[in-house]
Amino acid sequence: MKNELPGIYIHIPFCKTKCHYCDFVSYPIHKSAVSVELYIKTLIHEVKLRKEWLASLPSAGIPRRFQSVYVGGGTPSVVPSGLLQMLFEELWKNFDITDEAEVTIEVNPGTIERNGLTLYRQMGVNRLSIGVQSFDDSTLKKLGRCHTTADAYSVINGAKAAGFRNLSLDLMFGLPGQSCKLWFDSLSKATALSPEHISCYELGIEPNTPYGKWHSQGLLSVPTEDDVIGMMENTSTYLGSRGYQHYEISNYAKPGFQARHNSIYWKNGPYLGFGCAAYSYWQGRRFGNVNDLDLYRESVYNNRLPEADSETLDIKGSAGETIMLGLRLRDGVCLKTFEKRFGVSVWQFWDEEISLFTERGLLEVSSGCLRLTDQGLLLANQVQAAFV
Ligand code: SF4
Repeated sequence: MKNELPGIYIHIPFCKTKCHYCDFVSYPIHKSAVSVELYIKTLIHEVKLRKEWLASLPSAGIPRRFQSVYVGGGTPSVVPSGLLQMLFEELWKNFDITDEAEVTIEVNPGTIERNGLTLYRQMGVNRLSIGVQSFDDSTLKKLGRCHTTADAYSVINGAKAAGFRNLSLDLMFGLPGQSCKLWFDSLSKATALSPEHISCYELGIEPNTPYGKWHSQGLLSVPTEDDVIGMMENTSTYLGSRGYQHYEISNYAKPGFQARHNSIYWKNGPYLGFGCAAYSYWQGRRFGNVNDLDLYRESVYNNRLPEADSETLDIKGSAGETIMLGLRLRDGVCLKTFEKRFGVSVWQFWDEEISLFTERGLLEVSSGCLRLTDQGLLLANQVQAAFV
């Protein structure tokens, strides 16, 4: 079996301000004790440490060529482009990244100018993931986003003018005060711009956020479960009729524009993560960096990889994760590939669970793959949980 190439993830833990619903590891840029410049220099040092670490490992069949680089956050576009360029130069110097690699940067409207986008193109960035979230200004305000829809139009048009031919827009549904009409209005405005890829995320209310607090105090009016299910079900039909293939629970793409980097995660493939709070998966081991900026910097400058936790799963654990992640894909988990990888069939470990979910109409085997049915998609979390 040909091994798929791994990817590289870089975490930028800074944002202009903090959104009300966010529990990602990100710090408001102007209040951070570690400057952006110092952070990028630390990242560069980590890149060198990780290169030495990689050279010291036996190959174990994992190719050392990388097919993708994904810069996420946080808000990578708050980093001055010149600093990102410095980081990219070191990354390409220290790792073998293919000429055809998918290179993505997450961008938030209102955080980057046209010349910054042009510099991204010159650095080899060929895909932008733009955090639009909504095309309704009052919804953006309620979310605590620091931009307007005019900013979104400006960055999307600027990216096209700078030569980008692979744009992904992030949108959110199930938001406070958002009706079905308002959601489909955002979708309609998004498709009118004809991006190659659209991600639609349901709002999750996390306890340690302002939304979590307001929700527990009864101050947040979110759509009913039925409305949210309606939004989910109809989104697939709506985007399908406009040429977007629903290929993953939250993701839609025009033909040929599925996210390559994220596909590594969904196929439980190998990747290396750099930066504060970044995770990696390599040779069956999942490990994460510290999420405190000071500890991250201190560790790297003392020439220690900043790992905080690490887990190596046994075959069943790793196979279960592979199914859990693979069921996110509409194609599901290829049974032949699974058997070659783990030396067992899915039924040897989960015969009972698969039979049960199949009888309930939530799982099916189609074209040699185990996948969620349309009905199963609505209860994905419940089905996925049975495998881990
Ligand atoms: S921009 Fe993204 S990472 Fe930053 S605070 Fe908002 S949701 Fe969180």
